[in-house]
Amino acid sequence: MQIIFIGPPGSGKGTQAKRLADSHAIPHISTGDMLREAVAEGTELGRQAAPIMASGGLVSDDLMIGIIKDRLAKPDAQKGFILDGFPRTVIQAEKLDNLVGNAKENLRVLQLLVPDEVIVRRVALRRSCSNCGAVYHLENNPPASDSVCDRCGTELTARPDDNEEAMRKRLEAFHRQTLPVATFYKAKSLLREVDGMGPVDEVFERIEKSLQ
Ligand code: ADP
Ligand code: AMP
Repeated sequence: MQIIFIGPPGSGKGTQAKRLADSHAIPHISTGDMLREAVAEGTELGRQAAPIMASGGLVSDDLMIGIIKDRLAKPDAQKGFILDGFPRTVIQAEKLDNLVGNAKENLRVLQLLVPDEVIVRRVALRRSCSNCGAVYHLENNPPASDSVCDRCGTELTARPDDNEEAMRKRLEAFHRQTLPVATFYKAKSLLREVDGMGPVDEVFERIEKSLQ
């Protein structure tokens, strides 16, 4: 199964994609995580992406398409994948179309619907583990012990782009550049809209139903 997650920043794409990756035994491919790794490792890609990500803008289509092309060519992605954060522009969606070819019967495009005002609250209390990538919410999904990752014991931190100004820009980019991607898939009758409100388990159940 090939799953594409569309949704505003903070709508729960990563949270749900990790669960789906476990239940369907396919890789979770998050372009945001890949870029953050490149920034942490100080690679050339990381150096180019860091200031753009910090300000809440989008990294160029050419760079992102190159990254995803390489990633989808890896052996583990041949049995399926969950894309989280890609495609974010119509140009990226068109390129992805060429990459996945005609296997549309395996493709599921999910749009997580969460209003902007809820997004802002989710992102303000998001805490991430820079070591294993686990994501928490201080109220809705807190770690067992304050500010430490349950899985690996690393100190949890707020993402640098979860500040008010970058968040405003990311939401703008979502409305202007990524919502047209939902329209792109709707026109192909591939879009499945899922209510992203409520507890994580309930959202997960809705997603599993919509995949059938
Ligand atoms: P995205 O990958 O779309 O940016 P995340 O999965 O990182 O979003 O979720 C953003 C924040 O919201 C995290 O702190 C996460 O723990 C929290 N969260 C995710 N799903 C829900 C939900 N259904 N209800 C409340 N909080 C949630
Ligand atoms: P995310 O973790 O999905 O919220 O992504 C974090 C940041 O990485 C975004 O705000 C963008 O700057 C960058 N990014 C991730 N995926 C893409 C993409 N497909 N196209 C452009 N920029 C991206």
